[in-house]
Amino acid sequence: MKQTQSLYPHKTTAALRSSLVLFSLISNPIIVRLALLFWKFLRFFRIPIHPLVGFTGYDQFCAGENVASCGPTLDRMLLHGVSSVLDYAHEHAQTEKDFAHNTAVILKTISAAEPEKKQHFAVVKPSAIGLFSLFEDKSVNKPLTLAQQRAWESISDRFQTLTQAAQANGIVLMVDAEESWIQPAVNELLIPLLRKYNKKRVVLAVTIQLYLKDNDLHYKELLADAATHQYRLGVKLVRGAYLEKERERAHSLAIEAPVCATKAQTDSQFRKALEMGLEACHTHLCIVATHNEADVACCLTYCQENQIPLAQTNLWFSQLYGMRDFISFSLAAKGANVFKYVPFGPVAQAVPYLIRRALENSSMKAQTARERSMIKEELIRRRANA
Ligand SMILES: Cc1cc2nc3c(=O)[nH]c(=O)nc-3n(C[C@H](O)[C@H](O)[C@H](O)COP(=O)(O)OP(=O)(O)OC[C@H]3O[C@@H](n4cnc5c(N)ncnc54)[C@H](O)[C@@H]3O)c2cc1C
Repeated sequence: MKQTQSLYPHKTTAALRSSLVLFSLISNPIIVRLALLFWKFLRFFRIPIHPLVGFTGYDQFCAGENVASCGPTLDRMLLHGVSSVLDYAHEHAQTEKDFAHNTAVILKTISAAEPEKKQHFAVVKPSAIGLFSLFEDKSVNKPLTLAQQRAWESISDRFQTLTQAAQANGIVLMVDAEESWIQPAVNELLIPLLRKYNKKRVVLAVTIQLYLKDNDLHYKELLADAATHQYRLGVKLVRGAYLEKERERAHSLAIEAPVCATKAQTDSQFRKALEMGLEACHTHLCIVATHNEADVACCLTYCQENQIPLAQTNLWFSQLYGMRDFISFSLAAKGANVFKYVPFGPVAQAVPYLIRRALENSSMKAQTARERSMIKEELIRRRANA
């Protein structure tokens, strides 16, 4: 990954120094815990967080408060071959008003995506456009009240509206995966849409979490469904972001955890899914969404050995904005298709997302140390060339 001249071409030296400080701070779990306590304190006393934005990691992990203000960041990355998807940071919304607002914002991101400029994607989280508890009830076939049935129809309409907008703008709408216990309801909505809208090209892409036991088989089933119903499947492959939550819930309900027991099992399922995705990418879209360098290297080797051009339009790599930039920009320099997941939204609203990133970075010591060492290396390179 190191051959590229510049590992962080889109960042100024000052921004890189700030990133180094931030990654050093969040690699310390005690500092992260203290920051979380401080955040809870601010929230409890309703103290506005805006004046403290410089200390939240917002600039590192989010690109702006609205679609327009993210433009310069996206253009800077695109200049170096890295595309983007704007990810509106508003999950677990609560009211119909919020759902309508979120749908409108996501429609804006769909209009802002420009396929001719290699900005091919938009993204939606189910819990941003529908009530989480309704997805839960629907997933266990709980009889719905009349009001719930109406709300369910509205969720279905919102997915349909977003998919149609993606189709009209010539882009792909990805649907993020969240907690496993809402996934049956999400699948119930999405599979008919895949069959309907993905006939000619991939308009809708679903996410497969490979930390869920046997979820590589779910991918296999989807590929079979695509063959039966003659459509192009779009998938984003991820390991999964809710490990602790999944385990805690299973523990509290005294049921078997749906997630793999070990990291090695998750890794093995992820590799199996990767192989399926690479084998199928002549027809179906596969988005490899990971920060794991070994997986990325494995894909590159597979492509080389099987004469799959890296610029193959059905194969994309993706990392989160502000994380593992050295992977994204190295891939782009090799000619691969890469996009960054770029969260945006008001600062206070983005805090749960920022907390997840801080916790993730503090728990993944080796990767965060690697990120820091890459940033240091780049700073040294720049100083030497100055
Ligand atoms: C572009 C992008 C989009 C994403 N979209 C989603 C999404 O829609 N839904 C979602 O859930 N996540 C999503 N994620 C997050 C993703 O699922 C991972 O949490 C994150 O990327 C870290 O995994 P990794 O493959 O990058 O790296 P690694 O460091 O190799 O893997 C870490 C992951 O391994 C798994 N793991 C760790 N320890 C154990 C253990 N003891 N037992 C079993 N499994 C373990 C967990 O899933 C953990 O997140 C996305 C990530 C990216 C980069």
